[in-house]
Amino acid sequence: MSANRLALTGLVPLDADGAAHLDSLIADLDPAALLWVSGYTAGLAAERARGTAWAARAAVAHDAPAAAAAPASRAESSARATILYASQTGNGRRIAERLGRSLEVAGLAGQVLNVADYPPRQLSQERLLYLVTSTHGDGDPPDDARAFIEHLTGRRATRLEQLSYAVLALGDSSYPQFCATGRLLDLRLDELGARRLAPRVECDVDLEPKAASWLEQAVASARAELGGDAPRLAIVTPLRPSAQALASRDAPLEVELIGNQRITARDATRDVRHLELALPGQRFEYQPGDAVGVLVDNPAATVHRILELTRLDPSHAVTVEGTTRSLGHWLTGHREVTRLARPLLERLAERTGNDELRGWLLPAQAGEFRRRLKELQVADLLKRFPADWEAEALVGALHPLAPRLYSVASSRRELGDEAHLAVAVVEYAYQGERRVGPASWQLATAARGTRIKAYVEPNPRFRVPADGHRDLIMIGPGTGVAPFRGFLQQRIADGARGRHWLVYGGRHRERDFLYQLEWRDLLKRSKLARLDVAFSRDQQDKVYVQDRLREHGRELYAWLENGAHLYVCGDAERMAPDVHAALRDVIVTHGGRSPEAANEYLAELARTRRYARDVY
Ligand code: NAP
Repeated sequence: MSANRLALTGLVPLDADGAAHLDSLIADLDPAALLWVSGYTAGLAAERARGTAWAARAAVAHDAPAAAAAPASRAESSARATILYASQTGNGRRIAERLGRSLEVAGLAGQVLNVADYPPRQLSQERLLYLVTSTHGDGDPPDDARAFIEHLTGRRATRLEQLSYAVLALGDSSYPQFCATGRLLDLRLDELGARRLAPRVECDVDLEPKAASWLEQAVASARAELGGDAPRLAIVTPLRPSAQALASRDAPLEVELIGNQRITARDATRDVRHLELALPGQRFEYQPGDAVGVLVDNPAATVHRILELTRLDPSHAVTVEGTTRSLGHWLTGHREVTRLARPLLERLAERTGNDELRGWLLPAQAGEFRRRLKELQVADLLKRFPADWEAEALVGALHPLAPRLYSVASSRRELGDEAHLAVAVVEYAYQGERRVGPASWQLATAARGTRIKAYVEPNPRFRVPADGHRDLIMIGPGTGVAPFRGFLQQRIADGARGRHWLVYGGRHRERDFLYQLEWRDLLKRSKLARLDVAFSRDQQDKVYVQDRLREHGRELYAWLENGAHLYVCGDAERMAPDVHAALRDVIVTHGGRSPEAANEYLAELARTRRYARDVY
């Protein structure tokens, strides 16, 4: 970066040499570090200007929980906004960071934190809080928010009359408990006497329009609340995006497929692929635990079918929230057509007045509704419930096409500029017709050399411990084992001394024991201390990973007592709660604790980042 690439708004108190010196100091910093520096220097400026002892910390902290969690005094807290986020997929983090950046641009101080890194007692010192939280499954909070909610809803929560706040709730209206976590926190803060700055905003999967207006309102309210005494920042805007900008969801990069191999047997019930991607250098930084987001177009045949059923013209121009594209373009690259969502069912029920369809939408029919969403695609519904559609209404009733996320199954420390993924191909029959998932199918059938639009979705809560002496227990049935391949590569490359215990579950040992040879090799080299497997369909009665945990409970408990870190990856709906229950049983049986004390034991592991789950 050089001085003439910077456009400085307002008065710039730096001469050419000063600007060049500054450039040379910050040239190699990544965006997170740059944001941190901007907040740090703003704080220094405020401190010097006022001669007070505090420095405002406008920290965007993903990987710096220790710094972020340091308690702040009331004077410090009252001069800045605290923006907390809790979300499993990264949407909450992205919105919180956008708010952090907008506040910076507005010259206001703010800190952006994962709620798991925030000591809840600090709330009594805060003046201004913005909370962005998602809800999962049937009303479950994101794992990151559990300790915060526990504190806030517990008996020891203190009154918060000094606090002003606003909540942005993220959710999926296909689930009956839509935005339950956001609602709970919003109501609880109100009960504790905090002042609601604006009504809670609830966003569906199509979150952008509502999130954007919430952000605007949040900046306006922060300006009103802090305007008088917040430190001003000098705003430095790069003239063009840096060549070093990291790939992101909004600016994905092309990666090249250099390996594509089926790793389940030919007669296995599912096709799972081991994919190898060549990365464009430093712009695609990832760490084991992160996911790769893949962006693909919808299958042409599926789009064609929708156009046929609605008799709409693909070249018709449709404008949504200021963006104009042809209908064909919207359906191909910008709207979900293989996954159903509630808005389409609602619009269809309105248009057709069909009682069956209305019935699916009733809260009492939640189970039936979920089943329909899983099995039907957009074209099935359009065929079964014919209606007249205008192109605008159709596009408006469909959710935006979301990237598909796959846990990275490798470590850069081992592989350099490569990332590996384990992808289960979504493929099933519905009424005699073959259905495929758009991303997994295209990846599975892609030839070497194919270029794929991708980015890294960071997951800082799912990382190997910094302390290489710690033991790791990794529970990953099916493709949930993917991140643990990356964890092991990383730990071995780092020369970590701690032990590794992998618990794997699959359907059949002979057909879908993913990465079997690698685990065997690691066992032989003593890099894996234990490997326990559960193959569910090799015998009459199902055997699952949690059965192995119970069987080896004594040893498991001993590892935990010895400071091991525990990880679970895979299915959120059934596996993760069942594994959690088994862990609790192990602690009850072998730790001699009550079920409540065992729950608290696990909660404490989660709080101290020794129990992390990556489940969806
Ligand atoms: P899968 O082959 O469908 O299942 C793996 C094994 O888990 C099978 O033996 C299966 O047994 C068993 N299983 C079923 N119900 C279980 C339960 N309640 N408790 C424990 N084990 C159970 O696995 P997959 O499709 O590859 O992946 C599983 C899920 O993990 C998918 O939903 C996928 O989306 C998710 N996933 C999430 C992440 C992430 O969050 N980062 C990464 C990868 C995969 P039966 O089928 O014989 O009952």
